[in-house]
Amino acid sequence: MDMKVPAEKLGLTEKYHLLTRDLAWDPSYRTNKEIHPYGDFEGIKIHDWDKWDDPFRMTVDSYWKYQAEKERKYYAIIDAHAQNNGHLNITDARYLSALKLFLQAISPAEYAAHRGFARAAREYEGVGMAVAAEMQAIDEIRHAQTQIHGLSNYNKFYNGFHGFTTQRDRMWYGTVPRSFFDDAMSAGPFEFIIAIGFSFEYVLTNLLFVPFMSGAAYNGDLATVTFGFSAQSDEARHMTLGLECIKFMLEQDPDNIPIVQAWLDKWFWRGMRLLGLVGTMMDYMLPKRVMSWQEAWKIYGEENGEALFRDLARYGIRKPKGWETAAESAKHVPHQIMLGMYQWRFGTAFHVWPPSDEDMDWLSEKYPDTFDKYYRPRWEYIKQREAETGEPHLNMGLPKLCQTCQLPTWSTEPGEPEKLVQREIEFDGETYHFCSEGCQDIFEHEPEKYAGAWMPIQGLIRDFGEDVPGWMEWVNLIPGKDNMSYHGSEDEQNFKAWKAQTTASS
Ligand code: FE
Ligand code: ZN
Repeated sequence: MDMKVPAEKLGLTEKYHLLTRDLAWDPSYRTNKEIHPYGDFEGIKIHDWDKWDDPFRMTVDSYWKYQAEKERKYYAIIDAHAQNNGHLNITDARYLSALKLFLQAISPAEYAAHRGFARAAREYEGVGMAVAAEMQAIDEIRHAQTQIHGLSNYNKFYNGFHGFTTQRDRMWYGTVPRSFFDDAMSAGPFEFIIAIGFSFEYVLTNLLFVPFMSGAAYNGDLATVTFGFSAQSDEARHMTLGLECIKFMLEQDPDNIPIVQAWLDKWFWRGMRLLGLVGTMMDYMLPKRVMSWQEAWKIYGEENGEALFRDLARYGIRKPKGWETAAESAKHVPHQIMLGMYQWRFGTAFHVWPPSDEDMDWLSEKYPDTFDKYYRPRWEYIKQREAETGEPHLNMGLPKLCQTCQLPTWSTEPGEPEKLVQREIEFDGETYHFCSEGCQDIFEHEPEKYAGAWMPIQGLIRDFGEDVPGWMEWVNLIPGKDNMSYHGSEDEQNFKAWKAQTTASS
């Protein structure tokens, strides 16, 4: 009779190696260069891929077990949310504007991150990094799906949720995140990891998920809190991985340092511009606010960033260019964006409203250097004009867009809050405009890449001219339902009527 010998238990490191990188093989009839054609075109030199280790030692079997458990919990809560009229538990329907903007701008970005990581995984020559990128690709598609599922219940009851996929590609504010991800995906695999692993995950995800999800909790939105927490545990892994990849590049060859520094400069600035939209949601769209954008930027942007760059200093990496300008612009950006969105509210697939006196007092307290001086007078002027004329204060002119980040050039020069930014350069016989020095630098470094970008406003003028209803149909925006002011909207009326019914019958 054969003796049954129990299999030797493998250690975590051993198991990780056996189930990830040891599954690779040395190619025999093709060269590594043929298999990974984009491995070296960015100039990054890697001498020993075995030096890269996944700090989480995640294997495919443990990954599926862990994620499946989270999925079960997530969908149990989402079902409960739908069955218990979760759409009526929010503070009021103004809160939905933040969600609509999130769905139109951020969830498609998760999907783009999925595509980007799937491609990057194919391109890394090192199996350890490729496996980690594959798992992140799966995480990102799960984030997009859980967000869409979580918000789909609101779509049954409220306007403005239905057209998010079209709006991400065509709407003037949707192309801001789109261009960020298109830029990242059309870069090489190493720049991609800086764009997403550093800019999107390390600096920005904390700013997006932590304050935004506590805003959701504060405003009674269980669906968003739940997908937020479900994604947050992945984000912690993504940030560590991103950082590990950066350190790996820096350790492999000193020639990599200036390349990585230039990418950190570029992607810090691109991330800052993109996150202005989140700041606007936090300061202007939450009926109950948690913290101001400036406070969030101080804690999650500056303090975390300072710690990161202290750590990277030993590799010869300095803080990104534009670091100080970013701190200064955090005092202005949400106000400038909201004033723009308010005046172009015929062209937004969410509702807006002017800040009330109470809101303005909160903003003065949170922005003592800037709000009363520069922004309160403008809101007061707008409100007074609307009261006098009985007409909505709209800006029927079309904005000039930044060729790099695609935001309207509604920002001001650093240190000169009364001077609208005016930056343009000539390239190949055409004039291009920019919202900031940072965006102009990015363009000048790779002009061919940005000169051909599809710009939503030029597209509107060229293809639709005066035919604004035609443009609205094309961007899947239902005028009179999805856009304009919250006050008087169908969302406002429905929320009030349904809420009255639930309190009357209980
Ligand atoms: Fe994600
Ligand atoms: Zn820009």
